[in-house]
Formats: sequence, structure tokens, C-alpha cells
Amino acid sequence: MTFKELGIAEPILKALVQEGYENPTPIQEKSIPILLKGKDLLGVAQTGTGKTAAFGIPILHHLYTNNSGIGKRKIKALVVTPTRELAIQIGESFTAYARFTGIKNTVIFGGVKQAKQTDELRKGVEILVATPGRLLDLMNQGFISLRDLEHVVLDEADQMLDMGFIHDVKKIIAKLPEKRQSLFFSATMPKTIVELSRKMLGDFEQVTIKPEQATAEKVEQAVYFVPKGDKAKLLVHLIETKSAKAVLVFSRTKHGANKIVKLLGKANINAAAIHGNKSQTARQNALNDFKDGKLTALVATDIAARGIDIDDLSLVVNYDLPNVPETYVHRIGRTGRADASGVALSFCDAEERAYLKDIQKLIKQTIPTITDHPFLDDGSRPVDAQEDDRPPRANNRPRNGNQKPRNSNNRNRNKNRNRNSTKKQE
Ligand code: AMP
Repeated sequence: MTFKELGIAEPILKALVQEGYENPTPIQEKSIPILLKGKDLLGVAQTGTGKTAAFGIPILHHLYTNNSGIGKRKIKALVVTPTRELAIQIGESFTAYARFTGIKNTVIFGGVKQAKQTDELRKGVEILVATPGRLLDLMNQGFISLRDLEHVVLDEADQMLDMGFIHDVKKIIAKLPEKRQSLFFSATMPKTIVELSRKMLGDFEQVTIKPEQATAEKVEQAVYFVPKGDKAKLLVHLIETKSAKAVLVFSRTKHGANKIVKLLGKANINAAAIHGNKSQTARQNALNDFKDGKLTALVATDIAARGIDIDDLSLVVNYDLPNVPETYVHRIGRTGRADASGVALSFCDAEERAYLKDIQKLIKQTIPTITDHPFLDDGSRPVDAQEDDRPPRANNRPRNGNQKPRNSNNRNRNKNRNRNSTKKQE
């Protein structure tokens, strides 16, 4: 199946060729025909599957073929997405796919002054990409009218829930015109999200791209058993021995992310952190520097990194294993996007073995273990953790048995070495 066979308008096809898209990804092949018919869609899929084009292309096709070209531009399509980074990225995709159509988009998000955004809105756009808080704010101030809206996309719905946006999202849905095409995307479908989808969607069709399909087929994975206090050294060792150029490192916490950046800096590895405590400018600069190859490593928390699309990502490192198994799938989805293959390495300390078990259950595979490295945790060494450093427990899961605090020898051994700390939650 080709994009041409799907019946996409010529200027959009031309842009896709420029983007280097030869064939639709599975989610595109399944979703585009449904959306071209004007039906609602429930897409159960993670980022990295080509989700943005799956909704972006048919929306642009409708707007292009129905465009009268007369009068001021009106907002005809709205995409609501949880993070600023994701919003910017979706805006960039629309700009790329629409470059020969004359259709304009703009992106609005919180954490920055609103004047630039309202100027763009005044000039007029057909497509608005927004995070929920700023969207509601500007709607309430009268800068945004959704009266002419024809298409609405709720992206990463489960993440909206995790970030506490669910009430804002419900308020936004309540303000949408009755007659519209609704698209709802979520990587997971907990009960609250199913309920929300029923509120938003009319007569819909469902497309599911299973995470295990996305990960198992494309991403080479491995796990290193390593004491917590040796994780930084292992990271430096891997970056150096693998001559890795673009490494995305996941930290469970903001504080932990900052510490990892410092430790990498000491080893002369250029790195920056992105997380919720960083200003929007700092986050965007770090992301741009990473994309431009000025940074070897970008250290991110899950929320800040969600959906971030980086070409040529050579390696994803799970410095901490996530306590929610689906998060692992999101993380490793950052590498091996679309057709590319990728590598994801995970560090697992004694406390995290239960998390590893849950992850392997979800992805239905045993992640190969690498034992030929200098910092191997063979289970005989004391657990290198302090009480307040412990990762949060998921679902009251019992902790791993081996919970002794570090002994004094161990402490001396590691004296003057920075260790990661995971005190605060994102
Ligand atoms: P997304 O899941 O929308 O974040 O897309 C993941 C990545 O796949 C992005 O870098 C897209 O540019 C790329 N992509 C999307 N669709 C295709 C396609 N049909 N062929 C090649 N790359 C694609």
C-alpha cells in the first residue's frame, strides 16, 4: 500500500516524498482510510509509530480539498497534546506535510508569555496545536473560537490523565461544536481513559498498534545488573566504549536527571537535562543542541521526553527502570522510530528487579542480560541505596528482599564519587 493508493491529495503526497516517507506505517495504513471517510477514530498506539502523520495527513487532505480559499483563516482543526515539546513537534510535522497546501498552523503552550501566540492567532490559522491549560486560558480570554472546528485530536490521552489535565480536557471537550470529527489517541486504555473516549467519540472505529509489536520487532534491548552507586560509571563506560553520539538517558526524577548531567560533565561528556523544572527556553535549547549534535547525551524524565522525536538517536539508556511497565515501552520507542532500528539498554539495581519482571511480562520477552561489564551486580554486594533514595512502589508491590543499607566499607569505596539520587518525583 502506498500513500498514493490511499488517495491523498497531490500537494501532500509531494511533501511526504520530501520528508522521505515511502510507505505508510501500519497505523497510517489502518487509520488514514477510516479518517478520510470522515469517521471518528480511537487509536491505541504509542508515539514512534507514525501517529502524527496518521492523523495529520487526513486532516490536511480534508482541509485542502474543502478549502474555498475565501475570507479569513478559521480554526478548523485542533490537536490537544500534553507537553510543550510534543506540541512543537506536532506543529513542525503539520508545517512539513502542509508545505505545498497553503494551510497554516500555530502552536500554543504554557510557561511562556502569550503575546507572540495571540499575534499568530490573530493573523489566522486553520490548524491549532495546543496544550490544555494555555488553550483554555486563551479561549476564556476570547482569543480562540472553536465555532468553525471540523476536526479535533486528543493526543496521548493517558499522559493527560497522568499529568492531571483530565479536568481541563473535559472542559475543552464540552466547548467543541457538536458536529465534528473526533480522534482519540492513547498508548494505554485505563478505565478513566475509556470513559473519556466514550464522551468524546461518536460512531468510531478502533485501530490498535500493540506496543510489543513496535518494540519487539525493531529495538535491540539489553539489561545490565548494576549496583545503584555504579550506574553513573557504567553510563560513562558505555558512552565511551560504544562511541555513542546521541544518547537519550531516562531518569525517574528531575533531581536524578540533574545529577546525571553533572556526572557526565565530570567525564567530559556533553549533556543537558530536560524536565518539568527547567524553563521552556532551556528545554527547547537543550533539545535543539541535542538534535544538532552539540550534546552527546540528553537526560530526560518521562514526562518531559514523552513523544520527543529525534532522528538518528543511537541509544536509549534507562538509567532507572520505570515502575510502570508501559513507560518502558514509551521510552524505548524513542529509538527505532518508524522504520529505523534502535538500541535500548537498561540499568537494573537490586531494588528494580521486580520492575524488570513486570516489564518482561508486558512485552512478552526476556530482555537479554549483559554480564561482561566492570560493574556487575552479582547479587553478593550490599544494595547500594539509602532509604530516601528508593524508587516509589507501584501497586503496593513488595520490595525486593535485599534491602540492607550500604555498609561503611562500601561507602568508603565510593567516597568522592557522585551517586545518583532519586528523591523527588516528576
Ligand atoms: P510519530 O509516531 O508521529 O512521532 O512518528 C515517528 C517518526 O516516524 C517521525 O520521525 C516521523 O517523521 C517518522 N515517520 C512517520 N511516518 C513515516 C513514514 N510513513 N515513513 C517514514 N517515516 C515516518
